[in-house]
Amino acid sequence: MTERERHPTLAFAAEEVRRYLRLAGLAEESLPGITVELGEPSGEDAYAIEGDAERIAIRGSNPRSALIGAYAYLKEIGFAFWAPGEDYTRIPRLTDRAQLKVPRRESRAAHSFRGMCIEGAESLEQMLAYVDWLPKAGMNICFAQFFRPDIFWERWYSHQNNPLMPPRTLSEEEKEAFDRTLVAEIKKRGLLLHRAGHGWTSRALGYPGNGWQTQAEPREARYRSRIALLKGERRLFGGVPANTNLCYASEDVQQALTDDVVAYAKAHPEVDAVHFWLADTFNNLCECEACRQTTLSDQYVRILNRIDEALTEAGLATRIVFLLYQELLYPPERERIRHPERFILMFAPISRTFETGYPAEVPAGEPPPYRRNAMRLPLDIGENLRYYAAWRQVFAGDAFIYDYHLGRAHYGDPGYLKIAGTLCGDIRRVRGLGFQGLIACQELRVMMPNALPIYAMGRLLWDADTRPEDVAEAYFEGLYGADAPRVRVYFEAVSALCDTDYANANGPRLRPDLTGRYREIARLSRAESETLEDRGDPILRRYGSTLLQNAAYADALAALTAGDEAAATAAYDRYCRIIREREAVYPMDFDVYRAIEVTQRYTGLKETPRTPTNDEPTTERDERV
Ligand SMILES: [Zn+2]
Repeated sequence: MTERERHPTLAFAAEEVRRYLRLAGLAEESLPGITVELGEPSGEDAYAIEGDAERIAIRGSNPRSALIGAYAYLKEIGFAFWAPGEDYTRIPRLTDRAQLKVPRRESRAAHSFRGMCIEGAESLEQMLAYVDWLPKAGMNICFAQFFRPDIFWERWYSHQNNPLMPPRTLSEEEKEAFDRTLVAEIKKRGLLLHRAGHGWTSRALGYPGNGWQTQAEPREARYRSRIALLKGERRLFGGVPANTNLCYASEDVQQALTDDVVAYAKAHPEVDAVHFWLADTFNNLCECEACRQTTLSDQYVRILNRIDEALTEAGLATRIVFLLYQELLYPPERERIRHPERFILMFAPISRTFETGYPAEVPAGEPPPYRRNAMRLPLDIGENLRYYAAWRQVFAGDAFIYDYHLGRAHYGDPGYLKIAGTLCGDIRRVRGLGFQGLIACQELRVMMPNALPIYAMGRLLWDADTRPEDVAEAYFEGLYGADAPRVRVYFEAVSALCDTDYANANGPRLRPDLTGRYREIARLSRAESETLEDRGDPILRRYGSTLLQNAAYADALAALTAGDEAAATAAYDRYCRIIREREAVYPMDFDVYRAIEVTQRYTGLKETPRTPTNDEPTTERDERV
């Protein structure tokens, strides 16, 4: 047996099959032989499964695929993993070993990049529940953003935006231990670990690079001189190192960034792809004489080539992900990536609308000419794609989409069916546009109003030919049983009535044309709530809670669109109370921190001012990617 065949993920996959069969009622001694091994079918991520009363055989093209295959086998015999957590898991009753029969079948992933990137506020347990679910959903990548995902833990454990939960501060030792556990659980499943992203500019200025925390100006002159010169000054942009661009023409800056990436890659062989991004805000590029001679993308590519050269010299094969985003949407004018095989292009259309999806083809036309520090971000997805097409003229390597359906837009769709539809439609366009997959930049706690978007994402990223209608039907029937039709009718009506752009700050706040639509959502939610019986089912209870939340949310938006601020605040207070009280009951389902941040910062809703407690952190700055 070779080292690769003894991979711990194979043993874990076999144990998972045994564990679930026991949970389904089979006694240990009556379990059939279970073999999980590497082998045909070949392909990047592919598996073959078959089983009967005597033997269950699972083969994967790599350890991760064997694990995905193990869960696929369980699904064939009646298990379901609709979303992270036990309440979303369906375990059949197995009474007879004949029920283990599955004729041989093979399956191959349609996309190489199938993953999610952590955003929002999460506890360690919530992150681990998601990591556990990723292979069950057919996904292969976990992007633990930053060098350590401190910011997401800090928001959760301090219970930012939820004063009803007792805050606590994590020690450095706890964060280190959390991180070790998180990485170990990702690796146990053979998932690909992506790390870093923003934060390189922070580290070049002497800060940790684990979030968007506000910091004092650097004291050391060598750090200050690295900051971009903006309006005659070299100062942190808004006080946030992760949002601050550097003077990239400086040899010292280029060397510092290169050295840091190489040292990081060397120290972290467990990281499969290192994301190297610049600052997280736009229109704050250096205005010094040297920087003005060139474009940001040319400077970026020059540094990428330096990193590649240094990694090669160090004998490191680490893949580097580079970002098309804000100013970097413009392709370089002169510089070219010398070794495309080292790099992965990541297209992040952060400013897009979600009311329309990706087109089948990039629309004709050129991006507008670039003007330093006066860029307007493209709203339309077609316009965003024109930049990508221009980059494709100079880079033919691997590429994936990094998109935000569940990063903010979803708060504008309290039925989730519109956002699920856009997401599914977009995934079906991925290959035609020349991408090899999608990583969702998302809050992890996105199961309320329902988990259809994440479930469908996993299904379509594995099999692009799956029909979204079939996925939705299976999801609702599987989770809601006899209540599926009414639940679907309600979510469909709500999604058809809402306007995701309005909630995400696109367009004026006074929109009397939308008022009637939000009133109708409120009316429907109340009517549905009045006739819903509580039968103790945890999923239906969540549905009942969603109805109350949606009624208050729609009341607030109806008042806001009509210009009645007092009524909007009264309804919004109710909404905040509902979601905050519920967070202790369903901590995994809805990201209260982020919902409140988005509804206040973007939608423009205001709470009745309350007296902050001593432990409450000050509001942090907005993040972008
Ligand atoms: Zn400069």
